[in-house]
Amino acid sequence: MNKDLQNLIALAEIDKEASRLEPQITDIENELNDKMKLQAKTQDELESLQNNAKKAKVDIAANELIIQENSEKIEQIDKKMASVKSEQEIRALDAENGLAKEKIVYANEQIANIERELENFASKEEEIQNRIEALKKEIEESKEDVQKKTAKVKAELKKVFDNKEKIVKKIDNKVLIFYEKIRKWAKDTSIVVVKKQACSGCYIRINDMVYSEILKSDDIITCPHCGRILYIAQ
Ligand SMILES: [Zn+2]
Repeated sequence: MNKDLQNLIALAEIDKEASRLEPQITDIENELNDKMKLQAKTQDELESLQNNAKKAKVDIAANELIIQENSEKIEQIDKKMASVKSEQEIRALDAENGLAKEKIVYANEQIANIERELENFASKEEEIQNRIEALKKEIEESKEDVQKKTAKVKAELKKVFDNKEKIVKKIDNKVLIFYEKIRKWAKDTSIVVVKKQACSGCYIRINDMVYSEILKSDDIITCPHCGRILYIAQ
C-alpha cells in the first residue's frame, strides 16, 4: 500500500480519537456550568423574596401611619363636636368622622393581608437558603471532580496530539492538504474502507474499473461518488 495512504489511515484514526475526546471536556464542564447557573437563579429567587418582604414592611408602615393620622383626626373631630351647635356643622363633622373610620378599617385590612403574605416568608427564606447551601457544596465537590476528569482527558488528548505530530511529519504535504480538505466535510469518515466493492462512506457500489485500480494501483484513490479516500482492508 502507498506509504502516505498507510500513514493517512493512521492519522485518520488519531483524528477520530481526538474528536471523541474533545467534546468530553465540554460535557464535563457543562455539568458544572448548569449547577452554577442554577445557583445564580436560586440566589435571584432569594433576593426577590427578600425585596418583597422589605416592600411589604414599608407598606405596613405606610398603613400604620394612615391609622395614626386618622385616629388623631377622629380625636380632633370629637373635641370639635363638643363645641359646635348647628346641625350642618354636626353633619359635616359626622361625615369627616365616618371617612376617617373607613380609612382606618381599610388600612387595617391592608395590614392583615400583607401580614398573611409575610407569614411564610421565614420558612420560604430558609428553604431557599438551604437549597443555595446544598448547591454550593455540590459545586465545590464538582469543581474538584471536573478538574480531575478534564485533566485526565487533556492528558489523553496530549498523547493523541503528540502521535499526530509524529505521523503528520511522515506524510507528503500535498497529500495532507488533500486529506484536510476532505475532512472539512467528511469529518471522521474522510478515509473509508471498501466493503463488498462499495464505499463505506456513501455506501454506493464502485465500478469494476475503479475497484481494480484501488486493488492494483499505488495511488491515493477517492470514491467517484462522494470523494472520500478509499482503501482495501488488509
Ligand atoms: Zn463514497
